[in-house]
Amino acid sequence: MGYVQHLTKTFMRPKFAPMNSANNNFMEAAILEAENAFERGEVPVGCVIVDSKSGEIIARASNRTEELDDPTAHAEMLAIRDASKNSGSARLPQCDMYVTLEPCPMCATAISFARLRRVYFGAYDPKSGGVDHGPRIFEQSSCHHKPEVYGGISETACGEMLKTFFREKR
Ligand code: ZN
Repeated sequence: MGYVQHLTKTFMRPKFAPMNSANNNFMEAAILEAENAFERGEVPVGCVIVDSKSGEIIARASNRTEELDDPTAHAEMLAIRDASKNSGSARLPQCDMYVTLEPCPMCATAISFARLRRVYFGAYDPKSGGVDHGPRIFEQSSCHHKPEVYGGISETACGEMLKTFFREKR
């Protein structure tokens, strides 16, 4: 079954975050990346980074930990590396991230190091998340840059994809 039909059914507009049709499209782009990961047998998490000045996506990535044999190859890490390389800077203060799952502690730390302006994420991750759960990285005194964070964007579509993935794996 194609995942797209499924998403069309479950896609929900966010209720709380400052979203408009443009940034809804960015989350949809992140969801497409997650679908790519799903089809490659990777945990389906997708991410895009947008330059808020130009409104352009400057990096897109999905999880590749199995393919690369790299435990750090989360979608966010790959997207940050790519965005930094593409913009010729280790700091991305005018950039926003759209990611389908609450970032883990490693990725949240990388987001802080990259000085990203905003993070929009999809599903909450009570088990392994590091933003609203676990170590709550952005609230620590060791964290020197705290982005604006908006969680639960297209939460149903993002979360259902993960649930389907783990159900099929079992
Ligand atoms: Zn991560």
